[in-house]
Amino acid sequence: MARKINRIGVFTSGGDAPGMNACIRAVVRTALYNDLKVTGILQGYQGMISNQFIDMNSRSVSNIIQLGGTILKTARCADFRTPEGRKLAYENIKAEGIDALVGIGGDGTFTGIEVFSREFDIPVIGIPGTIDNDLYGSDFTLGFDTACNTVIEAIDKIRDTAASHDRLFFVEVMGRDSGCIALNSGIAGGAEAILMPETGTAIDDLIGQLEKAADGKKTSTIVIIAEGEMNGGAYNVAKRVKSKFDFYDTKVTILGHLQRGGAPSSFDRVLASRLGFAAVNLLLAGKSRRVVGLRGNKISDINIEESINNKAFKLADDMIELSNVLAI
Ligand code: ATP
Repeated sequence: MARKINRIGVFTSGGDAPGMNACIRAVVRTALYNDLKVTGILQGYQGMISNQFIDMNSRSVSNIIQLGGTILKTARCADFRTPEGRKLAYENIKAEGIDALVGIGGDGTFTGIEVFSREFDIPVIGIPGTIDNDLYGSDFTLGFDTACNTVIEAIDKIRDTAASHDRLFFVEVMGRDSGCIALNSGIAGGAEAILMPETGTAIDDLIGQLEKAADGKKTSTIVIIAEGEMNGGAYNVAKRVKSKFDFYDTKVTILGHLQRGGAPSSFDRVLASRLGFAAVNLLLAGKSRRVVGLRGNKISDINIEESINNKAFKLADDMIELSNVLAI
């Protein structure tokens, strides 16, 4: 028989991502709609350890669907990695009356709730929230679509100046281990070349690609570089390539943290709402240790260990080929 849940604790953890607020809203309102109580836990796992709890009602999540960041704040918490830290967290959430958890974050966040639920037998559900789109179990993670939109807005602006001055631009985007932002925004922004950690482009190959672009009389060339690709980032790549293209004015732009902020896109708001709704419904159905996600345009869920133990490889072969074909 499903265990009776009275109060859900919801938190965001790891890196912030646009859409987290829309997701918090969906969790809170779905829970209240089903006569559950909700506690917002501030600063992720840190808030469980240092007793940072707020009672949430429907108005606590008014006017946040359009906001980037997370109203619950987020943190990386070393103490939660220790058994003593988790024991203290458990005592605090028990005293607060929380009997199930919904954690929004990346694979580190999922690992935290997985260990916690095993140690203290508390129902947990993970919701994939990270701009990197690098989690197994969901075709898309919260914040990815918005981050790509931010990047293409920047690429469009860079293209204007690049085309006016015959410039060769190297634009570095986020993605330490994942080329998802680079590939998607590179295709959407019409990049001439895209460097990603998964594909590992050698400098000589890149030079070959850029020579082709120059032979094709392109007046501007934009190379998108994921920060974690193997040649050490945009400045290093630019340094090594520049001398071969002295007819171009070579420039580097690092987009950095602006990719994390901003109002979530329509796609991220709807995805966040669907996933928050699904997470609470799973708890109501007596499920635990699941990660919710969107797969083939259907909301589904998988075991949390399956999500943690599998590496997501989301660079579709056809998209890699497409990016090369359309760059001629
Ligand atoms: P992002 O993808 O944006 O980095 P993330 O959720 O992967 O998000 P992490 O910093 O890796 O971010 O993890 C968030 C928090 O989860 C950590 O600060 C820590 O408190 C907790 N956590 C991660 N791994 C473990 C673990 N093995 N045991 C217990 N807690 C963990």
